[in-house]
Amino acid sequence: MRPLECSWDRMKALVYHGPGKKTLEDRPVPELQAPTDAIVRITHTTICGSDLHILKGDVPSCQPGRILGHEGVGVVEKVGAGVTAFKAGDPVLISCITACGTCEFCRSAMYSHCATGGWILGNEIDGTQAEFVRIPHADMSLYAVPADTDIKGLVMLSDVLPTGFECGVLNGRVSLGSTVAIIGAGPVGLAALMTAAFFTPAEIIMIDFDQHRLDAALGFGATRVINATDGQAVATVLKITDGRGVNTVMDAVGVPGSFENCQDMVAVGGTIANIGVHGVKVDLHLEHLWSRNIMITTRLVDTSTLPLLLRTVCSGKLQPATLITHHFELADILSAYDTFGHAASTNALKVMVSA
Ligand SMILES: [Zn+2]
Ligand SMILES: [Zn+2]
Repeated sequence: MRPLECSWDRMKALVYHGPGKKTLEDRPVPELQAPTDAIVRITHTTICGSDLHILKGDVPSCQPGRILGHEGVGVVEKVGAGVTAFKAGDPVLISCITACGTCEFCRSAMYSHCATGGWILGNEIDGTQAEFVRIPHADMSLYAVPADTDIKGLVMLSDVLPTGFECGVLNGRVSLGSTVAIIGAGPVGLAALMTAAFFTPAEIIMIDFDQHRLDAALGFGATRVINATDGQAVATVLKITDGRGVNTVMDAVGVPGSFENCQDMVAVGGTIANIGVHGVKVDLHLEHLWSRNIMITTRLVDTSTLPLLLRTVCSGKLQPATLITHHFELADILSAYDTFGHAASTNALKVMVSA
């Protein structure tokens, strides 16, 4: 971390230059563009699976020249005249979702579909993998952080924890004494696991191919883990549940096979909650499911639960910093990408990047 001096007008930023290409380069420090903007000096950011999707060329809305990153915490540097909730010097958490607070979608707390916001950071506008970022609609898109909080772990609240909680746990109707299976023990699957515990389900079964991630899941509160390498994940879940299947199954992978497994292990009356980003079509087996009283849910994270999650973290009840396995400085963010992009060999979950 380095203090800002008034004369500085350049900053380091991680810039996307088309599929497979990214560089760490000098860019101008962003300026306020609207009265509702804030400029935030980033102290900590991280890399998301979505950043890797962008780098594969899977996200056409993200054009070459874009500074990546939609997660971070920092300190407000300056605010526009229309910002009332924050002032220079305030420590803040940045939501991955930008929200105006007044459009039809925001009024329904569906911030992810905000008419002038949604997931635009590090996608349609410059993001957080830099020393400074411009946050539009700052009053609704930033969250105050109590000054004495260890803000590093809060980076996990920008996206990962609300995604697991909202798309997986809340949509999946996890409840006291219920049975839950989570397919995919990556950071978001583990975030769903951590927050599912709020509702004290009887059983939380984590399923993955990576034994290291499954071992980690046991530490995060999974009651059982299943290594799916042998192709027997569905059979094992049915065996554990006396043939009934689970009340909630979450797809935290987002490929046709994971969604098929969800359909094969959901109990009568249960819920399939999709979290994964699906890039290709999947088969829906209504010939089996039509009579089983199930529900299928989809959602883009709204981060509407951030105030609740923030309180839970500040009180020490939820410890998101445990998802962080590696630490880097912004100057080494290319190494951070290498480590995160090769998670199978580096055992990375989330990487912390300090600016
Ligand atoms: Zn993300
Ligand atoms: Zn809106």
